[in-house]
Amino acid sequence: MTSLSTVFLRLEGPLQAWGDNSKFVIRRTMEGPTKSGVLGLICCAMGLSRQAARERLPELNKLTMGARIDRPGTRWWDYHTVGAGIGMMTAAGGIKTGAQGTLITRREYLADASFLVALHGEATLIKKVADALTSPKWPIFLGRKSCPPSVPVWAKPRSGETWTNPMTGPEDLKSMLALVPWHPRHEGDERPASGELPCLIEWRAANEGDIAPSDAEVWYDAPFSFDPPVHHPRLVAREQVPVQAGNALQERTSVPPRPRADYQNTEYKEARKKRIESDHGLCVFCKSPATTVQHVTYRRAGGDEQPDDLRSLCRLCHDAVTMIEYGLGMGIDRINPEDSRWRDPIIKKRHEIIEFRSLETRRRRLSAEEVE
Ligand SMILES: [Zn+2]
Repeated sequence: MTSLSTVFLRLEGPLQAWGDNSKFVIRRTMEGPTKSGVLGLICCAMGLSRQAARERLPELNKLTMGARIDRPGTRWWDYHTVGAGIGMMTAAGGIKTGAQGTLITRREYLADASFLVALHGEATLIKKVADALTSPKWPIFLGRKSCPPSVPVWAKPRSGETWTNPMTGPEDLKSMLALVPWHPRHEGDERPASGELPCLIEWRAANEGDIAPSDAEVWYDAPFSFDPPVHHPRLVAREQVPVQAGNALQERTSVPPRPRADYQNTEYKEARKKRIESDHGLCVFCKSPATTVQHVTYRRAGGDEQPDDLRSLCRLCHDAVTMIEYGLGMGIDRINPEDSRWRDPIIKKRHEIIEFRSLETRRRRLSAEEVE
């Protein structure tokens, strides 16, 4: 019998971004680390070029991966400008073209999240991964190059703790993830009352005939090449894992309180509810069921909103409007989807999104077929 072992990574930083490999102007993040992101990080630690990585990835993919969500973080948007040679509207109302033209893309991040990742598999390979993580050859990052880690990625037991990294033994991912204690980061952080933390655990059949749990999800993030990017599907099951609270007080450093956008306040919720009611629960643009509201002005944003500052929208129309706004770099007054001037641009953007989504579905289906 081959000997098995598990290596632990602590993925924590101001920002992380675990993309779903979309190449669109809106780049979202998954709720936890992707396997392509984590194996990419390990290839950086090993100092492997993209070409060299291709030879090592089949072996690295044999490791199973589990991620414990110690702190889910807050979703946060940023926008990037990319020179694209297309026309852009200027503040003065003109159009900049040619080399000055700039494309604006939106990128989503997880702010202030913390994940404990376990990679489980053949002991000699785990040893190589652990060695690379203790002295990385190249700088490592949390999903995107702009996201450096704020603590060493190689997870280390704190004083008084008995677990080791790597941890040997034939145990499965789930029991390994339960052995590492949970630590608060901010004053007042509390371990969930249930004593359990959510985990995203890669599912593999242990015995012939094993059937995946019915709620397992397909994640298209098992990398077989970074250049060109080739990803295979894998199954990810959501589980709850019991954890002990670690002895953290002695090592906790105090951090300033985090600023938060106060979108949870009751006045805003009340204005939002009133607006959706007055729109009869329908998107003001396409009359599909409304799932959100659009601010037509940010003049009173943050709690003093009046229902008249908002418009009910469905998800698709909201995405379309938001993308147009970012493309134009608008100020405090935003797009009013009821204004006829915006009708054609919104319809056009909705078509682009629908077309992109069906392309994406086809691409995913193709890459799934490739595996069979
Ligand atoms: Zn709509």
